[in-house]
Amino acid sequence: MTQSIALLGATGSIGRSTLDVVRQHPERFVVHSMAGATRVEPLVEAAREFRPRIVAIATESKKDELAAALRAAGVDAEVRAGAAAVAELAGDPEVDSVVQAVVGAAGVEPTFRAARAGKRLLLANKESVVCGGALLMDEVKRAGATLLPLDSEHNAIFQCLVGASDEARAAARIVLTASGGPFRGRRDLSGITPEMAVKHPKWSMGRKISVDSATLMNKGLEVIEASWLFGFPADRIDVVVHPQSIIHSMVTFADGATIAQLGAPDMRTPIAYALGWPERMDGGVKPLDFTTLGTLTFEAPDRETFPLLDLAFKALAAGGGETIVLNAANEIAVEAFLDRRIGFTTMFALVSEMLAKIDAPKPASVEEILELDRTTRALTREAVAALERSGKEG
Ligand code: NAD
Ligand code: MG
Repeated sequence: MTQSIALLGATGSIGRSTLDVVRQHPERFVVHSMAGATRVEPLVEAAREFRPRIVAIATESKKDELAAALRAAGVDAEVRAGAAAVAELAGDPEVDSVVQAVVGAAGVEPTFRAARAGKRLLLANKESVVCGGALLMDEVKRAGATLLPLDSEHNAIFQCLVGASDEARAAARIVLTASGGPFRGRRDLSGITPEMAVKHPKWSMGRKISVDSATLMNKGLEVIEASWLFGFPADRIDVVVHPQSIIHSMVTFADGATIAQLGAPDMRTPIAYALGWPERMDGGVKPLDFTTLGTLTFEAPDRETFPLLDLAFKALAAGGGETIVLNAANEIAVEAFLDRRIGFTTMFALVSEMLAKIDAPKPASVEEILELDRTTRALTREAVAALERSGKEG
């Protein structure tokens, strides 16, 4: 049977890798709909090849341009625009699987929509798990959705936990591997430019997650993501730096056995796993050759130089809406850093300041999540503007 897919974030790094896997299995998948944020050209290019029934763009003012470009390309698709239209695609009754590869908290609504509709949800958008927390996991359970993580670490953990009983899980530890990012081993983080920060040594990814990898915030977000997805408290999640990015994460059980998932650092492996699950299929990634692989090394993360990792652990342990504040402050800080308005280490200061300053009760609804997200964004933007006025940044 063919799987009908809604691909949100079709023009991004994960979106393109997903299309590459789908391209290799035309008999198994149809792309029913696709969505992007603002850029028309790559969306049209993807639509020309995959012929979706619906193409949506989050930026409303781009609707006419998108419609005209699709027509010019000979693509006969329905055109929709706006954030609500994007979220709606995730609940479309015509769709079996939602590949949620939007970046940032903009993904909260589509993720909830897919969960509520009981979809098979292939989730790359970690920010929606970080913000959604218990509410999201409750919706997944209630609606009988199937949540398959695409984030490579979580996809690895999912695989390591196959066959583990509830008792075995309850006594197990998650070992999240981290590449360490481009600045691993550095103690002095002054003078880092956006160009330096987005150049990841092992993975090719979107700009936001690349900066998160450079600050170790990505690993912090992933600790929170793992805690919710697998029901592990913060004190049963360890982080280890593994610069080769061959082991994608591990689970250690009570008897001392550790199960690891290995592979080339290529997102098409976790994407193929989730698309094919419970079967296995080829996504175009060459298996490892252990005779030439060389040495795998491990070290502790440098928590002093990269304080956002511990800040994420603390936000998770606090148990309320702190993870939403952490995420929103970080998104604005990353944006300001990429726009050269603040320096690299100012991102740490901003996130820490917002966590200290903003009262974050546990949200009781998606609306409350979005409200806390908005408030935090506004306050972080103000803090960035104040820094600029003071002349200390830039
Ligand atoms: P990216 O910047 O390359 O792509 C983001 C995509 O989201 C683009 O298609 C963009 O148009 C779309 N988008 C952004 N805002 C939107 C909105 N409001 N509505 C609709 N579409 C919107 O990012 P990426 O690297 O592909 O990452 C996507 C998500 O996957 C992030 O949450 C990231 O943390 C996660 N992730 C990425 C990787 C990776 O290797 N790139 C690995 C693990 C997890
Ligand atoms: Mg990851």
